[in-house]
Amino acid sequence: MGNGHPILVQTMTTTDTMDTLATVEQSIRCIEAGAQLVRITAPSKNEAENLQHIKDELRRRGYDTPLVADIHFTPNAAEIAARIVEKVRVNPGNYVDKKKFEQIEYTDAEYAEEIERIRERFTPLVKICREYGTAMRIGTNHGSLSDRIMSRYGDTAMGMVESAMEFLRIARSLDYHQIVLSMKSSNPQVMVQAYRLLVKHMAEEFGECYPLHLGVTEAGDGEDGRIKSAVGIGTLLEDGIGDTIRVSLTEDPELEIPVCKDIIKRYEGREQSLTSNMQLATGKLPYSPFEYKRRESFEVSNIGGKQVPVVIADLSKLEKISRTNLQDIGYSYDAGTDKWNIGDAAADYIFCNQPLDFDLPGTLKVILYHQSWLTAPDKEKYVPLFDASQYLDGNMKRSAYLNFVMIDYNWDQYARQPGEQLLEKIKADTTAVICFSSASKNAMQNIRSMFVDLLNKNIKNPAIIICDSSDATTDESLIHYSVEAGGLLLDGFCDGVCFGHHYGNTAVAPQIKLLNSIAFGILQATRTRISRTEYISCPSCGRTLFDLQETTAKIRAVTSHLKGVKIAIMGCIVNGPGEMADADFGYVGSGPGKITLYRSKEVVKRNVASEVAVDELINLLKESDAWVTPSAP
Ligand code: SF4
Repeated sequence: MGNGHPILVQTMTTTDTMDTLATVEQSIRCIEAGAQLVRITAPSKNEAENLQHIKDELRRRGYDTPLVADIHFTPNAAEIAARIVEKVRVNPGNYVDKKKFEQIEYTDAEYAEEIERIRERFTPLVKICREYGTAMRIGTNHGSLSDRIMSRYGDTAMGMVESAMEFLRIARSLDYHQIVLSMKSSNPQVMVQAYRLLVKHMAEEFGECYPLHLGVTEAGDGEDGRIKSAVGIGTLLEDGIGDTIRVSLTEDPELEIPVCKDIIKRYEGREQSLTSNMQLATGKLPYSPFEYKRRESFEVSNIGGKQVPVVIADLSKLEKISRTNLQDIGYSYDAGTDKWNIGDAAADYIFCNQPLDFDLPGTLKVILYHQSWLTAPDKEKYVPLFDASQYLDGNMKRSAYLNFVMIDYNWDQYARQPGEQLLEKIKADTTAVICFSSASKNAMQNIRSMFVDLLNKNIKNPAIIICDSSDATTDESLIHYSVEAGGLLLDGFCDGVCFGHHYGNTAVAPQIKLLNSIAFGILQATRTRISRTEYISCPSCGRTLFDLQETTAKIRAVTSHLKGVKIAIMGCIVNGPGEMADADFGYVGSGPGKITLYRSKEVVKRNVASEVAVDELINLLKESDAWVTPSAP
């Protein structure tokens, strides 16, 4: 792993580790699906010891895939597991420390004393790993940082990095290097910043980087879980960072593998990425990749400035557009009242080929190619799209308030004199919005370099990105948009997105609905525009005390209209409360048939019977003024 080896895919079992047969069979399903490493939880000595039976049975059946023991809180279990399996994962937030959520001020001497305590407790494990040739993951989680780290760094990306570095320094001092690190968070923004920062700090302190395991933790299920994972993991892979990946879904673990494979498939044959780890570490960019800061731009209509990124729905492939088509992008028409209802995820613009023959909702505008725009009767509702040559032509009629200008990275004049001329003209035009696109394999880096160009030239026009996909499956397209747009949004660059698809033989209308949903999902995952409820649900593991998939579906069914509310659904009380990070409400398994409900990190209702726990959650949302009555369908 690492040093240019192919990126490995992995997952984690959800069975009870003491149930040898169930764990072996689930591991086999994962391996058959393509998992190259299988992680199994070992919460105590008993489970750690049972790893031997699991390993023996797998080897007996002809499977030699490396196994990883997942450890939290129990050094004793780690020391047993390290003699059995190929790798142990420790969480530096809870390997030695028991989290008490205490705010303590540490003096330098007290802090050093704590590190010494960690050294004492961690050294035996390192020595066992060295002796047995066992690898180790130092796996930091945003939600489970120790009180010591929290008191000095807060729950920041820097805190996550330092948490791992404390353990890494000890391991290095013992000349142990079979290490991989991770910096997981359920928030892709924090996760991306933490990994980048870790690379920078390893390079600065050691002059070398250890391999990295990438993952967005508690990503949830379905479309949202896939988007969040692809945004976080894909952004880093585009940077050239990452050696093994896990897509953490609240679904059966073998279902994570095809998503992993779709993500890494994008990098086959792309040995040369434009940004390498070490280049990032030099920090010579006109923006910081370690913190979120939106690129400064002026407002043109509702685009740029402090406006949330807009969504442009591409309806140009529809032969005829009717009111019904607008339902797919968030607008529903009531013929009785002759009124439009606008959903939370309603596109702001549509792009099509000619003026429409019906009245549009008040908030929706239409983008037409310049030629068609000239024929549009209403120049307020309809705005033009120019290609670069048309825009440079001074004789073309323009909109008085909003003009879109296409710049394709591969437009061969971009880098030469006319490109400079084009940018100078745009810079002086307070009605111009740039539309960047690139069809190359390195499209994300191409567009990022164009944004860097805008920063260097102090061009403040808003800029949106146009991202096309010709991927064969829905999952591949979803990953494509998530990586290309997500990465740019996490760097604070985009003022809007427009996703297009080369449909082939597929029916166009259902795809438009899907693309609109993906666009809003990506904006939500990057926390740049909130339009839905946010679910943070753990993937479940051998500690899980209830059917997480079924419960998540139940909770989703009754709360999906609560825009912006973050609800965590966690399988166990041991790790759940710590790892639900910035959730507003938590639904956490606390014993067989028992649920404990949280408001932020505070326990509000303890040991509620699971049959009534969803109703109690609704009551809690009501008591906390976070509930709204769902509108009639
Ligand atoms: S929170 Fe979920 S995945 Fe994490 S240890 Fe508990 S049950 Fe397992």
